[in-house]
Formats: sequence, C-alpha cells, structure tokens
Amino acid sequence: MSNTTHASIDLSELDFDPNALREKYRKERDKRIRKEADGQYQAVTGDFSKYVDDPYVEEKITREALSDEVEVVIVGGGFGGLLAGARLREAGVQDIRVIEKGSDFGGTWYWNRYPGAQCDVEAYVYLPLLEELDFVPTEKYSHAPEILAHAKSIARKYDLYSNACLQTEITHMQWHEDSARWLIETNRGDKIKAHYVVMSNGPLNRPKLPGIPGINDYKGHTFHTSRWDYDYTGGTSEGGLSKLKDKRVGIIGTGATAVQCIPHLGEFAQSLHVFQRTPSSIDVRNNRPTDTEWAKTLQPGWQQERMDNFNIITAGGFQEQDLVSDGWTEIFRNLSGPVQRKLNPHMSSSEVAAALEIADFQKMNQVRARVDSIVKDSDTAESLKPYYRQFCKRPGFHDQYLATYNLPNVTLVDTQGQGVERITEQGVVVDGVEYELDCLIFATGFDVGSNFTQQSGYDLSGRNGTALSKKWGKGLRTFHGLYSHDFPNVFTMGLTQTGFTTSIPHALNEQAKHLAYVLKHAMDNNARIVETTLEAEEEWVAIINKLANLGKRFYAECTPGYYNQEGKEDGAGFFSGQYGGGAPEFFQILEDWRAEGEFKGLDIR
Ligand code: NDP
Repeated sequence: MSNTTHASIDLSELDFDPNALREKYRKERDKRIRKEADGQYQAVTGDFSKYVDDPYVEEKITREALSDEVEVVIVGGGFGGLLAGARLREAGVQDIRVIEKGSDFGGTWYWNRYPGAQCDVEAYVYLPLLEELDFVPTEKYSHAPEILAHAKSIARKYDLYSNACLQTEITHMQWHEDSARWLIETNRGDKIKAHYVVMSNGPLNRPKLPGIPGINDYKGHTFHTSRWDYDYTGGTSEGGLSKLKDKRVGIIGTGATAVQCIPHLGEFAQSLHVFQRTPSSIDVRNNRPTDTEWAKTLQPGWQQERMDNFNIITAGGFQEQDLVSDGWTEIFRNLSGPVQRKLNPHMSSSEVAAALEIADFQKMNQVRARVDSIVKDSDTAESLKPYYRQFCKRPGFHDQYLATYNLPNVTLVDTQGQGVERITEQGVVVDGVEYELDCLIFATGFDVGSNFTQQSGYDLSGRNGTALSKKWGKGLRTFHGLYSHDFPNVFTMGLTQTGFTTSIPHALNEQAKHLAYVLKHAMDNNARIVETTLEAEEEWVAIINKLANLGKRFYAECTPGYYNQEGKEDGAGFFSGQYGGGAPEFFQILEDWRAEGEFKGLDIR
C-alpha cells in the first residue's frame, strides 16, 4: 500500500505496519481452514440427543392428541412468534395457536440460561414491545432472566398462552388444496388443520457439537451451554455455581456464549480449563442500571425512534445523533463506507475500502492492547488476542472475561487454531497432553450449516407434494423473504432473504407488522389463498443474488466461523441469503409496498 492519504488517515503516520498485520491475519486464517468445513460438526441426534433434552421443564405436560382446526398456527414461541402473535391480535385475529418445543415462551432466551447470559445489544432497543407493555428494562444490557420474563409478559398480554401447544414439536406439514388448509402433525400425534401458518423457527435453534474423535467416550458430566445443568453446577443464571467448588471443569469454545459464562465458571470451579480455537474480540461493556429519571422523560414513540436510529447506524448509515452510543454503534461509525464517504465525499471505492481496513486495524489494535492491559501472563495475553477483521466474528463486549484469566485456578489452553485433538474417558487431549476433567461443557454454538428444513426439524409438502427441502435444496427462494410459491398460506420469518439487523427482534417486528397487514386484508376479503406469484419470487431471488456480492470478498478473507461457513471463499455463509442492501432499505421496501396498497406479487383469492 502506498503512503497516500485516505480520508483523515496518512499511512506514513501510522504506528503499525498494515502489510505485516494483513499478513498475520492471513496466516491466522490459513492455519484454521479445515477441508471438512461445516462437516467438522456433529449433529445432536442418536447417541447425542441427550444434549438437546430440555433441562428446564418444571412439569411434563400430558394431554390427548389434538384433532382440530385453527385460523392461524404460529410455529415458535420466541420473539418472532410473539411479535407475530401480538401484531395479529392488534389486527383483530382471534383464533391463534402457538406451537413451541420448549415448555414456555422465550425462544433463544428460554434455552440460553447459562450463567451470565445477557443480551449484548442495548435492552431499550432489543426487547420488543416495550411501550406496548409499559416496561423499561432495568439495565442498559438486560440479563437473561429479565428478557425471558419480558417474553412471557408479551405472551400474557396478547393472550397467547390460552391456546398454545407447548412441549410440542412439529414433525410434518402438508398442504391440502381442496380445503385450502395445512395439516400439521406433531410428536404428540396431533393433527391440526390451519388456514394460515407463520413459521418463526429461529436460525440458531439447534445446538451443535464438534465432531472431535472420542466425543462419546467421555465418562464425566457433560452438557451444552444452551441446556445448562444447574442441578450439577448449582447456582442460577445470575451465578453462584457453588457445586463446582470441588470440580475440575473444562469448556470448549470461546464465542459470545463462552465469554459470558467463563467468568462465573472461573469464580466457582476448583479448576477451569478453557479450550480455545480462536479468541473473540472483547471490548468494553460498561453496563449500567437504567436511569429512572431518564425513563420518565421518554415520550410516546421513543422505542421505534431509538430502534430506527440504532438500525440505521449499524447498517452503516449516518444519523446526526447516536442515541444508543455504545460499542456497536462506535464500530459501525468507524467501519462503514457511507460514514467514511461523509468525511470525504470524493473518495473512490478502493480508497473507502483502504480507509476502512486501516480503521479496522486501529480498532483491533485497541482491542489487542486492552488484552495486554488486563491479562497479567504475557503468553496467555498473546493467545487471547484476535487477529482478524472485527466483523469476521461477532464482536464481544465484557468487563470481567479477560480478568478471569488472572485467577490462579483458570488456565487457557490455546489449541493454536486447531481445536481439541481428542476426547477420552477422562477428559480432553490437546497437542498430546490429556487434561482430566470432572465436567466438560460445550460452548460450541448452533447449527447454521444445514438447510432451513433440517434446522426446523420438519419438512413441508406444498402444492402437488413439492417438498420445501427440495425446493430450497440449493438455496432459499422467496418473495420478500416471507412467501414461497407452491406453499400457499405459509409465511416464513427470520433470516430468509430478509434484511439482517444487529438487533434481530427489530427485523422480526417489521416482518410481523407486514404479515399482519397482509393477513388482515386476506381475512377481511374472505380469501382462501395467499401466495406469491412465481414471477415475484424470481424477481426477488434475482435481487438477492445480485446484492449478495457486496460482502463476499470480505468474508472470503475472514478467519473461519459460521459467518463464512467455516472459511468458504465463495461468499457462502450466514449473511449470504440476506437482502444485501441492508435492513433499513429492506424495511423501506416493505413499507412502500404496503403504502401502494396493491398487494403486488401476491395472488390473493
Ligand atoms: P459460536 O458459534 O459463536 O462459538 C462456538 C465456539 O466453539 C467458537 O469459539 C469455536 O471456535 C469453538 N469451537 C468449535 N469447534 C471447536 C473445536 N473442535 N475445538 C475447540 N473449539 C471449537 O457459538 P456461541 O454459542 O458462542 O454464539 C452463537 C451466537 O449466539 C453468537 O454469534 C450470537 O449471535 C449469539 N449470542 C448472542 C448473545 C447476545 O448477547 N445477543 C450472547 C451469546 C450468543 P472458532 O471460533 O475457531 O470456530
């Protein structure tokens, strides 16, 4: 790179060598590439299904199999399902049934109750329907119990408990053209007919395990973070894991989940070994209680305004005022092209890209310097430094995580990007050394590699028996991310060719409002069928594919992870099926479509 000036940065004045850093990032990436890519993981089926048993069930529900009909079935009781339920109620829909695998509402917050679990997006933005429920979260970043309680409050307020089927998993859905109904079958033998189905299954709902040799040989206690075993560890989501005081504990994984629970494990375990493949970037959290005086000043409409402000900034847009003003917005303020362009409107695309790379190096240097300022042992500190561009992995924020490695009972086992070598009856082997453990915790994340129907756990047979798994076998095909031709009256929510947001409930809320608008119109007109036309679907898929090129090169050069399907260079990965123009633009497309009032692209009859 030449010493030209990019925006306000003069490369000759940098206190680091960008070429050396770029080379270091490349080396760190290359040593992590595994040819098995997503194949390195183990599905939690068969011998592994114990890892998905629900440890939070207070009472097993017994009931007769249902054989009945409802107007709308909502699949999933997480924020997507709750928002769909809320917006449909507001539109006057009475006959709603939520079907949910867990024992209660909450979705990801039902399952993820590990100690320290907390939302890393500001609560005033993340928790949906705050004004509707007249609730202001107690902290800037809510802990999991508050979020779960809020989810339940939404279900109560919108009367979603009364007809819900909890502890129930769908096994299949079949379209019946004659009656214009879906027949939904479940693992309880239910046969439920529904005129409309809204599916909000959640993109990260199936825990995944690494396919480490010997994983099933381990004789000690073991569980996945999304099924935390408090009977074994003692304590609660708030900590206090007192039963671990005589236990040698190991944890595999150092992603966003591990970062939050490791401080609690370190505090209580007799010994803690953290098996790390790639370090997370850990920036300042700075959580604080809600200022009640500020809360009193909030005017009607405040939450939507704050959500929009956050969404625009975290999509790389410009706002005069940054209402949330935290680690997320700071990153986007510095690392987004439009902001760089605002600083210097005459920059070419390559100059913008170069300026962004420098800003990224600077940010990550700061993150690495923070490690040195906190972690006392220099080898451990070096191992904890992330060498990749900040958005290659989900950025982490925590004020106790790094300091945990200063505790005498805590050891970081750096696998040098290779991962755990083997699991034995007694413990874990890395680089030929066996670490004996009483308890091994998997903080290894969730299945994002398999396709939509595999992740959902059931398939749909649409018109003429078309299987959704087949139709979407080579990639999603939708109109606006919500409808798919040959699958009438069924609507998908989540990351299905919609606009990705840092605060996912915001996107789910926009989708829910849109679906409620469409369904109200259909119901007011006694429609039998709501279906996208093939042309509208093809046009949308073409738009998605065209815009998908935008982030491809960035992720191709990233260290492996689920964002790039474990190092794929073809742009495949978590974001590849999303609307590449960003969430604000996607929401605007939906809003403009509603304003037109013509229901273009839909066949409603
Ligand atoms: P991740 O997929 O982010 O992390 C999995 C971890 O397991 C990584 O550190 C990975 O290493 C490691 N790993 C996988 N295989 C091996 C192996 N063979 N040996 C050693 N280590 C291995 O899962 P998380 O549960 O941490 O997070 C999932 C997502 O959940 C987050 O990205 C985020 O979207 C969400 N989340 C959100 C929170 C919030 O506040 N809103 C809080 C927590 C989670 P490597 O990096 O090398 O692949």
